Amino acid sequence: MADFEIRDLRASVDGKEILKGVTLAINKGEVHAVMGPNGSGKSTLSHTLMGHPGYTVDGGTVTFKGKNVLELEVDERARLGMFLALQYPVVVPGISMTNFLRTALNAKRGYDGKDKSKMISPKEFRSMLKGELEVLHMDDSFLPRYINDGFSGGEKKRAEILQMAMLKPEIAILDETDSGLDIDSIKFVAEAVNRMRGPELGVLIITHYTRILEFIKPDFVHVLVDGKFVLSGGPEIANRLEKTGYSEWAEADESAVLKPEEIA
Ligand code: ADP
Ligand code: MG
Repeated sequence: MADFEIRDLRASVDGKEILKGVTLAINKGEVHAVMGPNGSGKSTLSHTLMGHPGYTVDGGTVTFKGKNVLELEVDERARLGMFLALQYPVVVPGISMTNFLRTALNAKRGYDGKDKSKMISPKEFRSMLKGELEVLHMDDSFLPRYINDGFSGGEKKRAEILQMAMLKPEIAILDETDSGLDIDSIKFVAEAVNRMRGPELGVLIITHYTRILEFIKPDFVHVLVDGKFVLSGGPEIANRLEKTGYSEWAEADESAVLKPEEIA
């Protein structure tokens, strides 16, 4: 059995069936890419895995560390070691980035406000944060600001990866972290993710374009069309998509593969 297993997962939104039987096994140490055209169900997969209340599970199982993930609350999934970088990060007025990161980190370490031995020390927190900000080419002026408040699209995506770097998940799902990023930002994000790669982390990169996969080399690539995987294999699949887009499976979608000069 793989470290993280999705079996025949089916899910719907507002009564509409979106995921029609998704099976995927991820081991720690592996990077899997899920590629697919717009509307194929990529975000539905990421939200369903993380427990978004707007998505209904109609069948299948998700197993991680011997637990049935689908029965857990979102925070329990996070504490178990799962992380989702959102495609559309939300603004949270009133909560600063620093407070959020420190509170999330402490919650993950099991600090409940009582047992100080579990709390991250201010010094350790600052030095960890400093290192991660550097890799992401973010300056510390982000920290006192409210979460994502006034952040540019690229800054929001980098802030998502900053959370990942701080929380050190074991299974990370990155939902179109590359979309809306200019090429430099894609490189910074890729560098940060590559630094985190290792035997303790399994990654699921969800993307529409092959670009980010030039910088974060996946071990496996899966093509999602209309809520089902239509093809799984090695990184060569991404090269094939680079040439043909998703037209083999769906209606001709030439726009699916962005040419380098089209990237903002
Ligand atoms: P992707 O991330 O691959 O672009 P999504 O998972 O976001 O795709 O969406 C999959 C499909 O689900 C789309 O056809 C979308 O229109 C549909 N969908 C998403 N949310 C809702 C909703 N609230 N009601 C009905 N359909 C929805
Ligand atoms: Mg999406």
